[in-house]
Formats: sequence, structure tokens, C-alpha cells
Amino acid sequence: MTMPVTKTSREAPIELAPDEFRALGHDLIDQIADFLATLPERPVTSGESPRETRKALQADNQLPSDGTSAGPLLQRATHLLRDHSLFNSHPRFWGYITAPAAPLGILGDLLASAMNPNCGGWALSPMASEIEAQTVRWIGELIGFPADGGLMVSGGNMANFVGFLAARSARFGETVRTAGMGSGDFATCRMYTSAETHTWVQKAADLFGFGTDAIRWIETDGRQRMKVTALRQAIEADRAEGHRPFLVIGTAGSVSTGAIDPLREIAEACREFDLWFHIDGAYGGFAACVPDSDPEFAAFASADSIAVDPHKWLYAPLEAGCALVRDAATLRGAFSYRPPYYHFSQEEEEVNFVDFGLQNSRGFRALKVWLLLQQCGREGYARMIRNDIDLAEQFYRSLDEVAELESVTCDLSIVTFRYVPSDLADRTDAAEVAEYLNELNETLLTTIQDSGEAFVSNAVIHDRFLLRLCICNFRTTAADLAALPEIVTRLGGTVDRELRQKHLP
Ligand SMILES: *Cc1c(COP(=O)(O)O)cnc(C)c1O
Repeated sequence: MTMPVTKTSREAPIELAPDEFRALGHDLIDQIADFLATLPERPVTSGESPRETRKALQADNQLPSDGTSAGPLLQRATHLLRDHSLFNSHPRFWGYITAPAAPLGILGDLLASAMNPNCGGWALSPMASEIEAQTVRWIGELIGFPADGGLMVSGGNMANFVGFLAARSARFGETVRTAGMGSGDFATCRMYTSAETHTWVQKAADLFGFGTDAIRWIETDGRQRMKVTALRQAIEADRAEGHRPFLVIGTAGSVSTGAIDPLREIAEACREFDLWFHIDGAYGGFAACVPDSDPEFAAFASADSIAVDPHKWLYAPLEAGCALVRDAATLRGAFSYRPPYYHFSQEEEEVNFVDFGLQNSRGFRALKVWLLLQQCGREGYARMIRNDIDLAEQFYRSLDEVAELESVTCDLSIVTFRYVPSDLADRTDAAEVAEYLNELNETLLTTIQDSGEAFVSNAVIHDRFLLRLCICNFRTTAADLAALPEIVTRLGGTVDRELRQKHLP
């Protein structure tokens, strides 16, 4: 079907003529390709201060009253970002849990915004909504979660919120949605999670009306995993006191050390006590696709909801999170309204994602993930994630050969360690030495980060300040990691010499 073309020219300053768009687009893609090709030779970060970055931007400039043509603007934006950024796509970026942007994902985002479907309603995004539904289903298949419903969201926090809200309305029904949290005895509701859980849980308890006091922090064992006996005791004690336990949150890969809770035993406890079982798999969830990975992943099959983060271990460009539920009705039960201004069909086959989450208008986040899932397949992802884990384990073992580096934990693809000057090695428990080592490693962290040679972040375990490396990076090679001990000991030596003059004679 072709429509007759009517020539109109409205002179809208925002429009780009087709040839101009084509030329600018080709040029931009060339620049991005050059950038990606030269990435390993660049520093991981410019290491500038906020003041320097603002100066480069000319941050104080006023909003222009007249327009500028698109070409120079794109040029300037490209240069500003290329010369003043931190590159999580660099092979030596190992901070937090942040992945490189998969190249096909970059192109997927471009295509998604070119088509600009509004994935809130099926009628506004027929193929895009179907692609999102398929993506969500495939993610469930990949990790072994029997997803009946779910949706793409901006990241792990939002995906966990969706599971949390599904639990809230599934457990407390319509009352909580109509009369609100002030009604009934919601003040006695309790949720259970380990002290290692990401801060999303405080935000959720706070924002969704329970208050953070409703969180029962369950203690962890020597490997930062929830103690299920303590969980059971807490639930029983709360019940005996007339509280209403409703939700247990297990973590599949903690943000700090990659610890995986005993999910199978937690699932068992949830069944017994009839509680909603939500799993935060934002980091570790995708490791479930690796053959012979941690047996705890088998418990995904018995969770009520799970949050995963394709912008972590599926290496999708930001933003891409995904919330999955066992029963799609629990999402409708939490989020659906039928306003008169949306005349969407009520047909069951038509997915209107507005009914499944917090957003109304929604972009097409699924496209990049859908493309990547097919580019790599289950096998490709299993191999890349396995490689990340193997590299982390290799690095952890290699620390044994470096006298000044003390290895502490290794779970999934996270390793924690610290720099200990040789002359202090046999006195690390002495209070003044322990304190000095914390200060030394804290200063060293900033020094490493600013150096641009590699990027790690930190963890604090049993009051020890540690360097922390997370390999969620398909570009990292064994050679990149082999370079790290030398970087840390060299910079560590420098920082130690400077600090010792002030402290610890
Ligand atoms: C990263 C992470 C989150 C938060 O996810 P965002 O994508 O940053 O919103 C929550 N929980 C865990 C375990 C994480 O690793």
C-alpha cells in the first residue's frame, strides 16, 4: 500500500530533510565505529573534577534563543562525550555492576527510537508490543523461570518494585489499592530479606507505604548468604506477636560480593508459611543459563516474581530491566485501571503493557534485548557469562602469587581484595593497622579510578574496606586482568608512602 505524497513545507526548525538526516546519520555511525575501535587505547575515564567537566561544557551558558544546525551540534556532543566520559564499554572497566553496551544493542536503540512505538498500548505499538512479550518470555526461558507475565522496565530497581507491588496487591487485595495503607492493619505487615540486599528494598518499603521498619533484616553467614534458620525464627516470632509476614526477598547474586542466598530453602519456607517469594536476580539472575552453575538457581522455578537486569549480564545498553511474574493476573491486579480515554480492546490476546507496570507511555526497550538474545542465542550467553565467571576465579587465584594483595571473596564474577604493604601483613588485626589499611585502600581506590588505567569499585566486609572487581564485560581478556595486580601494587606503594608520613610510624 502506498499513499499519495503531498508536498508541504512547514519550515519546522526541528525537521531534518531526508538527505541531511542520512548524511548526519552516516557520519555519526562512522564516529561511533571509530570510537569503539579505539576504546582499548583510551583511558577508562578522563578522571576530571566536576569543575573541569562543567568548564568543558560551558555549563553556565544560557539557553540559546536562536537555533544551531544539527551537524555542528552532533559534532560537539560527540567530542564532549568522547573526551570527558567514563567508558563502561572499556575492556578494563570492572566497577559496580555495569556492562559494556553491546554494539547491536546500540543499533537496536537507534531503530527503536526511529520507529518510536508507544509500548503502553498494543494499538500504538502492535509489532513492538509483540516483540516485548516475546522478549519477556524468552528471558523467562533463559533463566528457568515460568513467566506468565512481565515487562521491560528501566532497571533492577524498577523491576524489583514491580515484583514488590505485585506481592502487595496479591496479598492484600483490593483494599490496599482503594482504602490505602492507612486502613486495616497494614502497620503490622512484615517483609524479610538479608542485610546484603540492595537498597531498592528500603526505597520500596518506604515509597509504597510500609515504612522501612517493616523490613526484617535477616542475618547472613560467613559468605554473606541469608541464614534460613534465622529467617524461620523471625517469621515465627512475628506471627506469635500478631504481625503479618507477607513477603520474603532472596538475592541471586548480591550487589556487594555476588553472594547467592540459599534460594531453595527460602522457597521451602515461603511454601510452608504461605509467603510471596520474590527473587532479586538483577545481577546474578542470568548466570542461571550457564550449565552446571550454582544449584540454588533451580529455585527460580518456585518463585512468585523475579527481577533481572538485561543491562547487566545481557550486556544491553542502558536502560533495560525486566520484571517477571508467575501469574500475569497479579500484575493486572496491581496496576490495571480502565480509564474512559483509553479505548483499548479488552481482548485477552491484546497485551497493553500499561496494565502491567508503573509507566504509562513506554519506549521500546525490548528491541535491543530481543536482537541480542537472537544474535547470541542461549549458547552464546552461557559462554560469555561463564567466561566472565572463569576470569574472575582466575584473577582471584592469581592474587595468591602477589604478596601485597590479599584476596577476600570470589562469588559469581565478583572478587574482593585489598592492598596490604608487606611490612604490615602479619599485624592486620591490630586496631591501628586495621584502621590504617582501611584508609590506605580507600585512598587507593580513588587513585586507581582517577588513573584511567583500570576501574574497580569497593565493598566493605566485616569493617574492612576492600577493592572490588566485577567482570560483567565481554571485552575483558585474561591479559587485561593480568595487568591489574601491577597497577594496584604500583599505585598502592605510592599511596602508602604518602600516607605513612602522616600516620603509623
Ligand atoms: C544492580 C542491582 C540492583 C539495581 O538495579 P539498577 O539496574 O541499578 O536499577 C538491584 N539489585 C541488585 C542485586 C543489583 O545488582
